[in-house]
Amino acid sequence: MSPELHNLIYRSALLIASFLFLVGLRGLSRPETARRGTHYAAVGMLIGVLGTLFHHDIVQYQWILGGVVLGTVVGVPMGLWIPMTKMPERIALSHAFGGLAVATVGVAEFLHEGAAMSRIAAGAVSFEVLMGAITFTGSLVAFGKLQGFITGKPLTFPGNNALNFILIGVAFVALGLLVRTPGDITIFLVICGLALVLGLLLVLPIGGADMPVVICLLNAYAGLAASASGFVLDNDVLIICGALDGGSGILLALIMSKAMNRSFGNVLFGAFGAVDATAAAGGSAVAVREASVEDAAELLKIAGSVIFVPGYGMAVGQAQHAVRDLANLLTANGTRVKYAIHPVAGRMPGHMNVLLAEANVPYDQLYELEAINDEFPQTDVVVVVGANDVVHPAARTTPSSPIYGMPILNADAAKAVLVLKRGMSVGFAGIENELFGLPQTQMVFGDAKATLTKMAAAFKGGHG
Ligand code: NDP
Repeated sequence: MSPELHNLIYRSALLIASFLFLVGLRGLSRPETARRGTHYAAVGMLIGVLGTLFHHDIVQYQWILGGVVLGTVVGVPMGLWIPMTKMPERIALSHAFGGLAVATVGVAEFLHEGAAMSRIAAGAVSFEVLMGAITFTGSLVAFGKLQGFITGKPLTFPGNNALNFILIGVAFVALGLLVRTPGDITIFLVICGLALVLGLLLVLPIGGADMPVVICLLNAYAGLAASASGFVLDNDVLIICGALDGGSGILLALIMSKAMNRSFGNVLFGAFGAVDATAAAGGSAVAVREASVEDAAELLKIAGSVIFVPGYGMAVGQAQHAVRDLANLLTANGTRVKYAIHPVAGRMPGHMNVLLAEANVPYDQLYELEAINDEFPQTDVVVVVGANDVVHPAARTTPSSPIYGMPILNADAAKAVLVLKRGMSVGFAGIENELFGLPQTQMVFGDAKATLTKMAAAFKGGHG
């Protein structure tokens, strides 16, 4: 095949892939089209990868083939077997490996080109390695915090922020020096070392409850690193994909920090989530009132309006179909049913929307926080399905709480609240919830799916 034909195939594939990424991203903006959007993006990625194989710089394919086999052997079981509830951990690990891959490509390119590297290429390589290595160690810490290997509490020390600022400053000065003297291995090693340490120092001080924003930000870092890598390797699809990933990651992080009422600057420089030790201490001190599934069903029979608040426990219990079944019974009984979706409910952005869509809950019954919060005081019954932090009144009332300032769903303002959970365990933020002890609240203990199924049976007059 002639080099011209190679180049034509390569360029055409990249153009088609980039177009499919944009169509995919557009599809992701609405629940109805999201599934199709991911398919478009996946096909785009396949075409991008196949097109890259026609790149004129590739002289032999055996290493690429080895990488494809290894990636497939690791990736396919990960995709098939990791449950939905572990998705944030999986995403954090993917970011870590993405960051490592990009940083390694940068190191290889630096060693290959050495002093022959242009100043622009030296700048791009340094930036690529800096962001890639920060993403690598930062994502490993995020993974550890989500998985419980590392405490979810912010780990800080005096002068933490000042040190972070100094290290970031030194890293950028080193980057500037490398642009002046491309090929200087000492400066390059300083950048690599600083980046690895910065990844740890930026994420360790962030409290578990604020992890959603961090994960979005690490996603953006990985994208920016990949984009820089595209400049180094002269690979347009990497530049485009990386820029899309970086841009959308930053936008998502901004949206998430707004949803959680956190300062974006604090997330960037790793400085929020100082936990009050007393608030985070374990042991249930809240006195609660328990209701049977029959009591709960009776309450629902006379309710004119019901709002379901799904949370992480619904995902754990895979209770979304049981929620929809009960909601259908209520609707048939003449009750007005709505779902209140908190932006950080569950363990990943859009977690609840995905599960409820899977259970065919009509989209027009799903309401975001701002759209529904004023309706709680007029609502007869709120059914909290495995949610905890997102209905935590301390976020409004207790300045020492780690979630203080985060907008929450005002379930405590409703006339009656049914809380479906297995016991008195705390949520992700690790703090007791006083909603459970309020006079209008009744706890219905048990696995969410089993409880909802029994409630539906009791509602119909059966025997659970
Ligand atoms: P929480 O983590 O606050 O609470 C979940 C509750 O579900 C627990 O208290 C648990 O209590 C209960 N539960 C667990 N399994 C079951 C089950 N099978 N049946 C019934 N209940 C169950 O969840 P929320 O959704 O309210 O809040 C999300 C939290 O996660 C926030 O702090 C958020 O910041 C954080 N986060 C969110 C991310 C995102 O992107 N959305 C990413 C990372 C973190 P019990 O064990 O007693 O049943």
